Amino acid sequence: MSKIIKFKIKDFLPEKDVVFKEFGIPEIDLVSEKIQHLYSEAIKVFRETSKPIVIYSEISEAEFQNIFKGEGNNSAETPVKQILSKADNLILFALTMGKEVSEKIDILFKENDFALGSMLDNIASLAADNAVRKLETLNTEKHRNHRNHQKGTKTLAYSPGYCGWHISGQKKLFEYLHPEKIGITLNDSFLMIPLKSVSGVLISGKREIHKFKNDFSFCSLCRTKSCLARM
Ligand code: SF4
Repeated sequence: MSKIIKFKIKDFLPEKDVVFKEFGIPEIDLVSEKIQHLYSEAIKVFRETSKPIVIYSEISEAEFQNIFKGEGNNSAETPVKQILSKADNLILFALTMGKEVSEKIDILFKENDFALGSMLDNIASLAADNAVRKLETLNTEKHRNHRNHQKGTKTLAYSPGYCGWHISGQKKLFEYLHPEKIGITLNDSFLMIPLKSVSGVLISGKREIHKFKNDFSFCSLCRTKSCLARM
């Protein structure tokens, strides 16, 4: 059975230096007063327009195997496929920053206010990432506190559209979890609406299960190599 939780915005607000790093600015001291003001204005709009919420459901390995199979478009080998059988717990999730903030970003771009639009877009994306990190941390702590799982337990999120799990996998994930209950729908390209949404599975288990060699067929096209930091 799925559960729904509303988040507090303050828990996900990205740090100023992280926002500027996304724009390729390494030091806050290098940022002009005008841009600092733009950041403050975007944070204000983000606070006014975002309504972070998550829907999640614990799921058995057999149920998840069926969802992960999706429409049969995954790569032959993937990190999730390797990790799955070693996991202690699986939670399917979908979260969103809400439709108002995504609509506000659209409006700003349509009105040619690219500066504020880009800043808000960046803040909303980083906040959605922070929300996923929060779910990972909460689940890591929950499993660490369990008497059988002391140190060395870790929860990480894996999402359709990344690392060999084909984006069309969203279809079965949505059929199981029904994120439309919190206002998230899928378009024909399996993209989530509102855009500032993330879905996937939280995989908990021994820290080592999340370590793998990133030499899958799709890794040569990967620009971020984000698995390295996670490992
Ligand atoms: S290199 Fe990129 S695509 Fe490959 S596993 Fe790591 S994050 Fe995924």
